[in-house]
Amino acid sequence: MTVLASGSKGNSAVIASSRTRILVDAGLSCRELLRRLTQAGEDPEQMSAILVTHEHQDHVAGLAVLARRLRIPVFFTESTHRAWVRMLTPRTTMTYAQWLDKLAIEREAKAAETAKVPVYDVSRMEAIASLSAEAATLDAGLNRSGDLDAELPMEEAEESCEPAESRTVAKADPTYLPAVEYFHSGTKFTIGDIDVCPFTIPHDAADPCGFVFCSAGIRMAIATDLGYMPPNVTSALRDVDVLLLESNHDLEMLKDGPYPWSVKQRVLSRVGHLSNLAAAEFLEREYDGGAHTIILGHLSESNNAPELARISAERAIGDRMTLLGNRILLAEQQIPLQPVEL
Ligand SMILES: [Zn+2]
Ligand SMILES: [Zn+2]
Repeated sequence: MTVLASGSKGNSAVIASSRTRILVDAGLSCRELLRRLTQAGEDPEQMSAILVTHEHQDHVAGLAVLARRLRIPVFFTESTHRAWVRMLTPRTTMTYAQWLDKLAIEREAKAAETAKVPVYDVSRMEAIASLSAEAATLDAGLNRSGDLDAELPMEEAEESCEPAESRTVAKADPTYLPAVEYFHSGTKFTIGDIDVCPFTIPHDAADPCGFVFCSAGIRMAIATDLGYMPPNVTSALRDVDVLLLESNHDLEMLKDGPYPWSVKQRVLSRVGHLSNLAAAEFLEREYDGGAHTIILGHLSESNNAPELARISAERAIGDRMTLLGNRILLAEQQIPLQPVEL
């Protein structure tokens, strides 16, 4: 497992056997993902597939361009794929009040047409047009900042990453992918020689999943972006050798931090993100102690400090930490982590 990036500004990791290389999430620009793959000693051309946990921007920012560039299939659940397509498809929406205004304007226009007297209220039309535009922007903004930490990357101009042969089709349809494969949470499937077991995680997305990967008897798991640890997750994480586990925020820092109250509530909710405390409670009470390495990930830059996350997990692991087991690493937002090889 190589974590290329982890945190609310972008997530991506490589799970590789000797024959198969799966990119889990593509939450940075295509350009940046290519750069990090190379930095981590991976050849982008050797990637077999991209697997998506959920449709939040910090997990899919570079997805379409990268998949087209590498000409590899993308694995989603059907609901996640649909939500992602919706997110990238521009639409205009208006509030009920704006809709009533629009009806009134249309009525006036019709009346003017019949009376052949131009009574268009230009300034009012303009005001309504700008309101609708504002509503559309707001809506797009809401879609884009679907994830809970409002620390999302700005979209980069990615044209130069877009391969020439797909440039035209991508312009007409930004959701175009070379191939799409659907999986179902709870049903094992295979990519090359890696078995993938997706499990449902509680998070505010269409159909969010964590994964256990198994190849040659070695099991690696990814469980980030979850509001709490339900029994299906704790049992999926039994008997894993490498675990990427969310340790998103320190409760005190979140409470006193810069987020608006509503966002704090969402982060803390049952479909938000796992706190240092919740991760520690899992490690102390339910974790079987059998992993070689535990990587703490999706740390919030505003509401956590790496040392707090580490100390909290180390305390929970206690004397189960040895030279051969339960090593704790911290995934980073800005640079790839050393590959964990077993
Ligand atoms: Zn996320
Ligand atoms: Zn998310």
